[in-house]
Amino acid sequence: MQKHLKGKKLQSNDRLTMLNEYGSRQTIIPAEVKGRFRTWRTRIHFLLMVIFLALPWIRINGSQAVLFDIGNRRFELFGALFQSHDSPLFFFILAMFVLGLMLSTALWGRFWCGWACPQTVFIEAIYRRIEIWVEGNYINRRRLSQGPITAEKITKMSIKWFLFFVVSSIFAHSFIAYFSGSERLLQMMSGSPQENWTYFILVTGGTALLLFNFGWFREQFCIIACPYGRFQSVLMDTHSITVMYNAVRGEPRKSIEVPKEKQGDCVSCNRCVQVCPTGIDIRHGSQLECIACTACIDACDEIMTKVNKPTGLISYGSVEPRTKASYFRPRIVAYSTLFLVALSGLSYNLINHMSFNSAVLRASGAPYQMGSDNSVINHFKVNLHNQSHKPQIFEITVESILNVPIKLTQAMPVHQLGAGMSKEVHLFISLPQAAFDQSKSTPLRFKVQEVNSQESRVVDVSAVGPTKSQP
Ligand code: SF4
Ligand code: SF4
Repeated sequence: MQKHLKGKKLQSNDRLTMLNEYGSRQTIIPAEVKGRFRTWRTRIHFLLMVIFLALPWIRINGSQAVLFDIGNRRFELFGALFQSHDSPLFFFILAMFVLGLMLSTALWGRFWCGWACPQTVFIEAIYRRIEIWVEGNYINRRRLSQGPITAEKITKMSIKWFLFFVVSSIFAHSFIAYFSGSERLLQMMSGSPQENWTYFILVTGGTALLLFNFGWFREQFCIIACPYGRFQSVLMDTHSITVMYNAVRGEPRKSIEVPKEKQGDCVSCNRCVQVCPTGIDIRHGSQLECIACTACIDACDEIMTKVNKPTGLISYGSVEPRTKASYFRPRIVAYSTLFLVALSGLSYNLINHMSFNSAVLRASGAPYQMGSDNSVINHFKVNLHNQSHKPQIFEITVESILNVPIKLTQAMPVHQLGAGMSKEVHLFISLPQAAFDQSKSTPLRFKVQEVNSQESRVVDVSAVGPTKSQP
């Protein structure tokens, strides 16, 4: 890149903030900042970290609080067991997440990025802290980064990357625990990698990926790789609330060319640029690189307090003045409606989620067979799924909706299933041929009941047979 651009330096307005004038990456080392938003973000980031690390180790009703056992198509969420046939539920959860993100962006811009995105949370709460702890404040870190290779630089970088490796490994293991189960993870960790090649490769690859992303790639992910960042300009409008510089109040900023009485409140200290983790100058307006982290708000408030001016030169705001009506914009109404539809779908599925699931299917092959006593025999399969964490006993009964005398034949009167287990039960229903005198089908009602809880499911199906005209 440098060779290609030899002699053609890029101007600051023509390049991303993470690139130097030759188009190569320049490491952004933001200054530390204190303030009310910083305090709240730190609290929220640590809370999210604790939730992420703790969830795989919390047990509810004897099972992991959150487990995505993809291999066995079993998902455990806060004591409830879901299986592959519960996929509508996951569709609604996913839809709510996407629509919630769209709604929050339309209302509050990239609120998610600054306050809850794992990319920001991990870097701010852990990796940047390690860096500060090992290398010192931003002045020392910049000096070290730009300076020649010395014994001090090698020592500090070795310690920093070793600590990065340790925390990356912990996070990769915690992440895998969501899929393998924490108990299984402990077993695998105490065993040899040869016994668990798949998980060993996943954990090693995950550690390397986290190390690369949080240790080196960092803000580049937000600026050039994150698809959500690319969408934000489509999702936001002039009423969206985001981090903004009040140019009316701040400009013309302090400069030797501007007479003192004409100067706005911005004292040109550049502190807002120094603290920005993506290296942008918010005074140029809302930009793609801004992750709404609020660091510049705290930084500018600190300066305004020092120069005895009101705080809020940089603050949460919108391009258009905010009114009550601005919350009822078409896109807000559309996103909210869709979000509520997804929420209703999820609630309906959760309310109707039972401790077991059953499905009645007609067995493949001939639709019916004739018995030696001239009765008509229909063959059905009942798929039973125990969706609880304890054994269950099922009883299956069948009745004719038209009161046709029927006879049910099954291998066992009750069916026992262990926690989370599934079973296929074959049933043979005998009906008198007269049941099909008028029609080639007659309705049946299957009832599957769990003996202990008395929970039951009713499924209506049709038995088929020969009409009078048929042999
Ligand atoms: S401009 Fe302000 S809010 Fe946006 S990323 Fe930079 S410091 Fe954070
Ligand atoms: S921190 Fe505030 S006063 Fe300082 S340059 Fe930024 S906007 Fe101006």
